[in-house]
Amino acid sequence: WKKISEADASNDELYEMKITFNRMIDYLRENFEKQEMFVSDASHELKTPISIVKSYSQLMKRRGADNPELLEESTEAIESQADRMQKLVEQMLLLAKLKDGEDYKPFNIVELCRSAAETFEGAYHRDIVFNATADNVQVNGSDDQLQQVVYILMDNAVKYSQNTVKLSVKRDGGYVEVAVQDKGPGIPESEQEKIFDRFYRIDQSRSRETGGTGLGLSIAKTIVRVHNGTLTVSSEKGAGSTFTLTLPVSHES
Ligand code: ADP
Repeated sequence: WKKISEADASNDELYEMKITFNRMIDYLRENFEKQEMFVSDASHELKTPISIVKSYSQLMKRRGADNPELLEESTEAIESQADRMQKLVEQMLLLAKLKDGEDYKPFNIVELCRSAAETFEGAYHRDIVFNATADNVQVNGSDDQLQQVVYILMDNAVKYSQNTVKLSVKRDGGYVEVAVQDKGPGIPESEQEKIFDRFYRIDQSRSRETGGTGLGLSIAKTIVRVHNGTLTVSSEKGAGSTFTLTLPVSHES
């Protein structure tokens, strides 16, 4: 940065200053608009559970006293909507907090994936097939955040499919590829880009049944982006989906 006083600035320098200033304004405006959109999307998403909670509590007040069935139905609905709001708020905070470069260190991504496969097998009693072409591939980054990415992809795979889920790790030169493959309903081509958008769900009612918030993949994509990686999907309707995460291998590997 060079300080230019107006008195000795040439026309070229003033022109350059103007361009820089305009770029800054564009950058600030763009970020402000993104922030505004986030707040408006988030409020919209919270409106539904809040109105469900309100209508069930009014129902309980009016007719709950001598109706144990209604009381049970209402308290269950209120609890599940409260869970949903809690998840939404936690994920929104996570998305707002994500920054690059914090607590980055080299770690073994193969071990991270192996342990994720075991965790999901244990927690969901599902058949998870794990394979890796190497025992140790080092990646530089936040292991917590990248574990979250693998968990989001695995969580979707077990949530949206009934069969075996495959988790594989493959080193390819200076990159490592982590693929999560399911034999679920698949994702139509026209939806494949949109599913990475905040709050986007293909089938609202089915996703709501499965407790989804529509934030998982956008969190995953943001984490991967700050780690200089890519996250893509290849899928065919009816045949299943494969999500592939590609990351640069650490120089120490
Ligand atoms: P959600 O919390 O709804 O799962 P995500 O951002 O993780 O949110 O996913 C967005 C949408 O993408 C999901 O609602 C679902 O419609 C679709 N989707 C994600 N993963 C899969 C998958 N493995 N198979 C089929 N559809 C999927």
